[in-house]
Amino acid sequence: MRNMNHEEDLSDKPVHVANGPPSKGGSARKPIPAGRRSKSFIWVTWITKLMAGEKQCEWATWFRSHYIWEKVPSGLDVAKWTADHAQLLRTRKAALEAEGFTVYAEDQNSFTLVGETGIEVSGKPDIVAIRGAEIRVEDCKTGSPRHSDHFQVLIYMLALPHVEGPWKDRKLEGRLVYGNTLVDIPSSKIDDQLKELFRKTILRIGGEEPPTKMPSWGECRYCDISSADCPERMETEPKAIGNHGLF
Ligand code: SF4
Repeated sequence: MRNMNHEEDLSDKPVHVANGPPSKGGSARKPIPAGRRSKSFIWVTWITKLMAGEKQCEWATWFRSHYIWEKVPSGLDVAKWTADHAQLLRTRKAALEAEGFTVYAEDQNSFTLVGETGIEVSGKPDIVAIRGAEIRVEDCKTGSPRHSDHFQVLIYMLALPHVEGPWKDRKLEGRLVYGNTLVDIPSSKIDDQLKELFRKTILRIGGEEPPTKMPSWGECRYCDISSADCPERMETEPKAIGNHGLF
């Protein structure tokens, strides 16, 4: 069964581009048409690569924000990713508790912010750790470090003080956890420039006007939106013409 969960963007593996798995009769079945959401919804991890400049096709995120769609299956081994991530989170949680922190994990930290325009933004930080006046949000990463990881934690640091809970109205510090390597993100990074970048990104992605599509082999092959929903999708790598005589 193809994945209809629209929450997290876990994959950096190329997706399988067929129009759905073969039916028992052997022919490819038609994809389920995308349905319009009643209001714009944005999962934090959908926008971090845009904010970091690691992705250019804003239309893909706009579409996710406005539609419920049938995802192209990811090449990611989700079961292994989930197990590895859970193990890293358990290890980190135990280490923080040993240091005297009270630790809140995953669903305990879920939040949804609704803006003046009605756009919803949701996220789920891996860990919030509190010890006296110290409060820190952490995200555990099993893959290679990326600039977008910083934006993910920065958005959590920005959003959580506006959510009910022990983090309400508090200044949070941030941290990325790559195995045994810890990368601190100080609260001083939450400045007007970041707030403006976040605000503009949310309004562009959650707004009614669709951004221009930017099909490219580099992005389309990782994109979970099929050609049924995006006919401009690039399914193959452009080949260079031989005997060009340039060098
Ligand atoms: S398939 Fe390509 S062009 Fe279409 S939304 Fe995804 S990245 Fe953009």
